[in-house]
Amino acid sequence: MKAVQYRAVGSAPVVVTVPDPEPGPGQVLLEVAAAGVCHSDIAVMGLPAEAIRFPLPLILGHEGVGKVAAVGDGVQGVELGDMVAVYGPQGCGSCIKCAAGKENYCLHAAELGIFPPGLGSPGAMAQYMIVDDPRHLVPLGDLDPVRAVPLTDAGLTPYHAIKRSLPKLVPGSTCVVIGAGGLGHIAIQLLRAMTATRVVALDVSQDKLDLARTVGAHEALPSDSSASNKIWGLTGGRGADVVLDFVGASASVAIAAAATGIESDLTIVGLGGGTVPVGFGALPHETSVTAPYWGTRSELIEVLDIARCGEIDVHVETFDIDEAPLAYERLRAGAINGRAVIIPNP
Ligand code: NAD
Ligand code: ZN
Repeated sequence: MKAVQYRAVGSAPVVVTVPDPEPGPGQVLLEVAAAGVCHSDIAVMGLPAEAIRFPLPLILGHEGVGKVAAVGDGVQGVELGDMVAVYGPQGCGSCIKCAAGKENYCLHAAELGIFPPGLGSPGAMAQYMIVDDPRHLVPLGDLDPVRAVPLTDAGLTPYHAIKRSLPKLVPGSTCVVIGAGGLGHIAIQLLRAMTATRVVALDVSQDKLDLARTVGAHEALPSDSSASNKIWGLTGGRGADVVLDFVGASASVAIAAAATGIESDLTIVGLGGGTVPVGFGALPHETSVTAPYWGTRSELIEVLDIARCGEIDVHVETFDIDEAPLAYERLRAGAINGRAVIIPNP
């Protein structure tokens, strides 16, 4: 089969031919219908050798949707032909976090060598992929695989971040979304579907600001040194109640920290490496700063259910598998509006 591999530290991803995988006991083989291209892959491909905890080459793709093509011995609960979404942040399945569905916070995944597909184990950017356990699969129903696949990360991650801040996203509140890319443009729609908050999007690209407005942001402003003052102005001196930073760079977290009001949530989702000083007087009183990772199994079910209600319109640019390296180049250049999706089996 064809697969997109990250083969050597610092190199660009390439399309290769590898043997078709076969499901072992308990495993499920998917014929991949769609695989999303996430900026985290670019972050991973930028890591130095000593920071990479899994062997290369790696088949990329941690957003995957596919059709059940074969099952290993003992697999129950899925049928051949089922169209399913893959829950990526897989854990051991039995620790206290996994028992609560929070496999993204599994206590044992690292020591057991369990890695998400595409982020350590073979991912979705291939014609076929193996899923280790049917519990990682969520039925897609009548959702379009191409538009739904970003929901497994670019939807699930903002959903998790928003859900924990719902008590602050009351009518009259303001939520600032920094970075209206793959995650951000879905975050805006989730905020509009789940809350009555006012959504202010910030980005450095006019195309992304236009997309932010198209998908429901009330305001879309350049992400520059004037942004925080504008937010204090827009909110009549209250500041933002929630800031979701989908960039996480020092420039964006500085804006986040300057825009946030008393008793706010400042949530750093992006992997840009920026940090926020916390301590008495460093931020408005009772500001909570957090950096969440992905989302829970039940939240993936909820995100797919919101999409099924017609509330989320994921903007996608599609590529066939031979074009996957180009999709990464375009994402790196900031030239993807919405999410790039690879279709490995056209
Ligand atoms: P993306 O490239 O699709 O979107 C990033 C957006 O940020 C673009 O629209 C870009 O123009 C904008 N941007 C860049 N610099 C900016 C700045 N200074 N101010 C405002 N906007 C700026 O990326 P994505 O796939 O949506 O991922 C977003 C971030 O979230 C990445 O850092 C990714 O690694 C991270 N991520 C984190 C998690 C998690 O679990 N914490 C999960 C998925 C992705
Ligand atoms: Zn991702």
